[in-house]
Amino acid sequence: MSFVFPPFPPGSLPVAGLRQEFPVRRIFCVGRNYADHAREMGAVDQAEGREPPFFFMKPADALVAGDGELAVAYPPQTADLQHEVELVVALAGGGADISVEAAPAAVYGYAVGLDLTRRDLQARAKEKGHPWDMGKGFDQSAVAGLLHPASVCGHPAGGRIWLRVNGTLRQDGDLAAMAWKVPEIIARLSRSVRLAPGDLIYTGTPAGVGRLVRGDRLEAGVDGVGSLRARIV
Ligand code: MN
Repeated sequence: MSFVFPPFPPGSLPVAGLRQEFPVRRIFCVGRNYADHAREMGAVDQAEGREPPFFFMKPADALVAGDGELAVAYPPQTADLQHEVELVVALAGGGADISVEAAPAAVYGYAVGLDLTRRDLQARAKEKGHPWDMGKGFDQSAVAGLLHPASVCGHPAGGRIWLRVNGTLRQDGDLAAMAWKVPEIIARLSRSVRLAPGDLIYTGTPAGVGRLVRGDRLEAGVDGVGSLRARIV
């Protein structure tokens, strides 16, 4: 096959302890997966049961990934860029209608990620019933640290998830507080799309999201899954 210009190479995540990289196919994100964050966003508490999970996407080339301090460009068209620290799931398997029981076998590994958000654009979109894409899927909006294979780190279901900005703790939650757990998220998402090797899933953020400005230094971590560092430039 020949192309009219060279195809864009896939984005990828470096894998801890390996020289190989994990090639990224698509980036899915879960909305409002921690009750404390749903509350701070003004979403109504469900008195009983869980609100079904909902998903949005970022383009695969929105990914900024690696070890060391990642440089992330402050995006245009916003005065309210916000951080959301999240556990990122990387799939090496896939399929449609994956069962909760079979879901862990589809996981290659886990990373710490940031779902960067132009909150002002997202809020306007919510108001008008418009899509979230320009609030969520802008250039460099998906940040991720080193990928840790599940063969080494297991499948974390609990443990601290935290984020500091310029040394100040802003987000401090626990994976156990996720409304929908990772295997349930995979199972639900696979009802809507056929999942595939290379897919990433950002699994939602705990409370404490907040504004970023140029020059901010971020450090984030998840127990058992390492940490990431980034600077807004
Ligand atoms: Mn998020």
